[in-house]
Amino acid sequence: MNFDVKEGKLVMHKPAFGGNVVSLITTKTKPQMATARPGMFKPLVPNPGRRGEVTRVVMHAGGRISILARRPVDIGHPDLEGAEVVIGVERGLKRRENVELAIALAKKLGAAVAATRNVVLAGWLPYKVQVGVSGRAIAPKLYIAFGVSGHINHLVGIRNARYIVAVNVNRHADIFKVADLGVVGDALQIIPILLERAVVPRC
Ligand SMILES: Cc1cc2nc3c(=O)[nH]c(=O)nc-3n(C[C@H](O)[C@H](O)[C@H](O)COP(=O)(O)OP(=O)(O)OC[C@H]3O[C@@H](n4cnc5c(N)ncnc54)[C@H](O)[C@@H]3O)c2cc1C
Repeated sequence: MNFDVKEGKLVMHKPAFGGNVVSLITTKTKPQMATARPGMFKPLVPNPGRRGEVTRVVMHAGGRISILARRPVDIGHPDLEGAEVVIGVERGLKRRENVELAIALAKKLGAAVAATRNVVLAGWLPYKVQVGVSGRAIAPKLYIAFGVSGHINHLVGIRNARYIVAVNVNRHADIFKVADLGVVGDALQIIPILLERAVVPRC
């Protein structure tokens, strides 16, 4: 998603049909607003000189809503959108059991696990960890991609990652075009080695 302003109107650029077309959406009425998925934009550098007026609005739900209890959900690993390190897995891992290896490595590194659509369609991981045009967008400091081919539908979800490390058996895989560090090799051999030697990375 991208934004533009034309003749005082907000114009939103929204990828559609798997990123094959970009639709322009214009709001005709005011006030105008838009939402963006977390991770799609890099936060601005804080500017202490800017002053805004905070207006507190007390909302009355008319007595129809009451909160009975708040229960934090333990998802067992860092939240994908807030994670500094994310391990991405693709169909290259071949079997669901091999995804467990990546999950074990993620636990050791304190990382979250992300998946491409193929992994989700195969039922290896839930949709909530799908990253890409029809999934989430993430902005970790480090994204480690195991067997990720680098299709544009996946890349739009990781474009704000600071560093990308990719492991793929195919030296011509598209993921290497965006990777800061590329390793041509078998993820199924490399993950166990990392599991043995991994230390929490500092980025
Ligand atoms: C409408 C639409 C929406 C989509 N939305 C998304 C989305 O949100 N997110 C998303 O990810 N995709 C999405 N896709 C799917 C996307 O287009 C790709 O299909 C997907 O990213 C997976 O890539 P792939 O099919 O090339 O994987 P594969 O072709 O399965 O690639 C597997 C990769 O693993 C490598 N590999 C194989 N074995 C090993 C090994 N042992 N070690 C290391 N590497 C190995 C191969 O060289 C290859 O590069 C969408 C598609 C459509 C049509």
